[in-house]
Amino acid sequence: MMRRVLLIVAGALLLTAAAQQRPFPRSDERDLMVLTIANIAATSGPTGNIDRDVLQAMRKVPRHVLVPKEVRSRAYENLTLPIGYDQTISQPYIVALMTDLLDTRLEHRVLEIGTGSGYQAAVLSQLVRQVYTIEIVEPLAERASRQLRELGYSNVTVRAGDGYVGWPEHAPFDRIMVTAGASHIPQPLIDQLKVGGKMVIPVGKSWNRLQLTLVEKTKTGKLKTQKVLPVAFVPLVRASS
Ligand code: SAH
Repeated sequence: MMRRVLLIVAGALLLTAAAQQRPFPRSDERDLMVLTIANIAATSGPTGNIDRDVLQAMRKVPRHVLVPKEVRSRAYENLTLPIGYDQTISQPYIVALMTDLLDTRLEHRVLEIGTGSGYQAAVLSQLVRQVYTIEIVEPLAERASRQLRELGYSNVTVRAGDGYVGWPEHAPFDRIMVTAGASHIPQPLIDQLKVGGKMVIPVGKSWNRLQLTLVEKTKTGKLKTQKVLPVAFVPLVRASS
């Protein structure tokens, strides 16, 4: 009896392991998406080739599971997609570029502002130790949190709230990525970035006149900023309290 139970448990464990090894469905489409990203980067990208590990992470994450059902069929085209609540998910090339600019290491702890669908967080989770991500629209935070858990991305922590003020309890962060358009770089995020740390953030006066900006906090604590590319993003809004 005991042996049979043990065999069943072992079998279940093996099946789970096998399921985790198997790529998510639609991997051919993801391969094609990554090829498209690599081509755009090489031919017209502002910084040239995208890091191999970033492309590999994007080859793995099932974007179609994280976006709403109505747009699933188009999940692997290089398109911005609606995710409900008037919000959108960036086109895969922009996700790749922002992730590449962030220049992550495996040991990093990263803060993301604007969880949205959870896609960017899932991509980052493949590349770093821990991702903390904040979403101001509560139902989006809940949906992303559930989906990420179900997909097995256990190193992502989602919180509903106003990301402008960062997440002091987990600061300082090695890297910060803001995926909504800001009129300026929020001071709390600067404060919560480690010295030597990097932040990627779209900055500008209106949603369609933003500059994707790479920010580095230098050894002296000063900021070095570099405009990388004009982009369009939904705005970073503030909680009305
Ligand atoms: N990174 C997301 C897409 C982000 S869209 C993805 O991969 O799917 C931008 C998101 O930022 C929206 O969901 C919007 O609700 C959220 N947002 C806007 N202002 C915010 C704020 N102050 N704090 C946290 N999230 C915010």
